[in-house]
Amino acid sequence: MTARCGVASIAALELAKSFYLPVASPPEFPDHCVACMVPRPGDLLIVKASGWSWWDRFTPWIAFGRGKVTAEVPICAACRRPVQRMRAIQQVGVWGYLVLALVILIPLSQSWDLPTGWRRSVVGGLALLSLLPYGVLLVLFPPAFDLSMTKGRAEYEFKNADYATLFAAANPHAESED
Ligand SMILES: [Zn+2]
Repeated sequence: MTARCGVASIAALELAKSFYLPVASPPEFPDHCVACMVPRPGDLLIVKASGWSWWDRFTPWIAFGRGKVTAEVPICAACRRPVQRMRAIQQVGVWGYLVLALVILIPLSQSWDLPTGWRRSVVGGLALLSLLPYGVLLVLFPPAFDLSMTKGRAEYEFKNADYATLFAAANPHAESED
């Protein structure tokens, strides 16, 4: 019971808050640092996202025509570098993880008694499964700010709960699933 409470409280501390807005309506960012909440931080974190995700490589006809969205999020000079570094590491991390999984899996799969087509599908499926722990890490330790596009909407994710509250107040038409 105690252990479960511990896990729940870690999740409550770290889980990012997400808000959805139509791509055509740019959000109002509160003038506080997105990471440490200092008022009038004076610097900007520029984050871009497009409707293309790497899933779309398999279904380009669905992705066709999706737009791009750019967010300029207030951040203080002290927080900008570590936040940018964290985002870069996480982005490179996904690809690194996937490549590593393939480097291990492809030679292994040579000894599997499967038709070639099947072998590729199984390797692809296992490589995706191997991303699961990485995905859990991202959920537990999200970046200070993240931006993505899903189903024609922009998703704004904040790690700092106080900032998320200010964002919700400044953007009353933003939808939240929390
Ligand atoms: Zn800051």
